[in-house]
Amino acid sequence: MKVSCRLYVEVTEAEDLLALDFDALPQPLFVMGGGSNLLFTGDFPGTVLHLGNVSCHSERSEESVRITLGSGVVFDDFCAWAAAEGLWGPENLSLIPGEVGASAVQNIGAYGVEAKDIIDTVHAFDRQERRFVDIPGADCGYGYRTSNFKTIWKGRYIVTAVTFRLCVIPRPVLDYGGVRKALIDRGEGVSLPISGHPRPDKREGPAGVTGGRGRSEAEAIGEGIPFPLTPQLIRETIIGVREQKLPDPEEIGSAGSFFCNPVIDREHFGRIVAIAKAENGPEYNVPHYEVGERIKVPAAWMIDQCGFKGMRLGGAQVYPKQPLVIVNATGSATPEEIIALERRVIGTIKEKYGIELHPEVEHV
Ligand SMILES: Cc1cc2nc3c(=O)[nH]c(=O)nc-3n(C[C@H](O)[C@H](O)[C@H](O)COP(=O)(O)OP(=O)(O)OC[C@H]3O[C@@H](n4cnc5c(N)ncnc54)[C@H](O)[C@@H]3O)c2cc1C
Repeated sequence: MKVSCRLYVEVTEAEDLLALDFDALPQPLFVMGGGSNLLFTGDFPGTVLHLGNVSCHSERSEESVRITLGSGVVFDDFCAWAAAEGLWGPENLSLIPGEVGASAVQNIGAYGVEAKDIIDTVHAFDRQERRFVDIPGADCGYGYRTSNFKTIWKGRYIVTAVTFRLCVIPRPVLDYGGVRKALIDRGEGVSLPISGHPRPDKREGPAGVTGGRGRSEAEAIGEGIPFPLTPQLIRETIIGVREQKLPDPEEIGSAGSFFCNPVIDREHFGRIVAIAKAENGPEYNVPHYEVGERIKVPAAWMIDQCGFKGMRLGGAQVYPKQPLVIVNATGSATPEEIIALERRVIGTIKEKYGIELHPEVEHV
């Protein structure tokens, strides 16, 4: 089902924001990127503004590259470029839909890396003060899929560009979501742990490693992987892993992970383990990640355990290959159907595990 907005404004040069009379626009105002994390719950009565600024500027030093990209740049084009240049940083974020501006709002993340790890500065238009500001990444209040832009600064800033810091020195992150196994499974060959950009200095390190990490650490990271480890190889591997699990936005509509993964205390986790063992046998292990003193439990696991995988409600469906995703299976699902399925999932999980799932997808 299609929805519409009262007015759509496309701004291609950030400076044009200064000339825009925001008060004269139909209200409310919603700033949209590529729209890949949004659920429009009906026609939008106000203005949707998109910043299609695709500027690009980079500075290189011996060990790093700082690249400033306009908000409208497709985030995966940036990942592809960095990998092709042999630069480390965004490779694990490959194939995440959406644009650069939203990446800094959402603190997108995948396979052990978050946007905050590579964001140096967020450039934005402050609607309150009517001026452009540069906000250091460290001041943006980044957390799991959140930032000050989504909370205390909501509606105040329009992100115009983001400066990312990329590394010439290898920084592979392999131990999340089966990345290491997928790398190993890619084929046979001699084990050549890590290769990167030409070495910027004469620091110690194994052949092919561009300084920075000590020899043993670098070798340990690449252990068992039968290829020279490059950002390009990690990117291709991650794309392969994602394509197996996630719906292709060109073919089937979704907004990605519909729910955030809940983080709970150990006692609560113990109760969940007891339920899971009672249902699946005493040897059963509940997937989880330690987050300091607390435990993150995959929402996908809980949704699956409650029998929702593949469940349909009208045109809405819990995606059979990845139950964290709700898809528009028929192409004509209504917002009401999506929301009804969302509510059913939330209610069932709450009843069974005592956990209230929160949507990651923004309802507009
Ligand atoms: C198949 C699929 C897989 C996905 N996988 C992942 C994943 O692995 N990890 C992950 O983190 N996310 C994932 N997502 C979610 C989505 O890709 C991200 O949230 C992405 O950052 C959204 O980008 P967008 O440009 O489409 O933003 P939109 O969805 O349009 O907007 C997202 C939010 O950012 C705000 N915003 C956008 N641009 C600006 C701007 N210039 N200034 C101020 N605010 C702005 C919007 O108001 C909104 O609040 C996935 C989505 C899909 C469909």
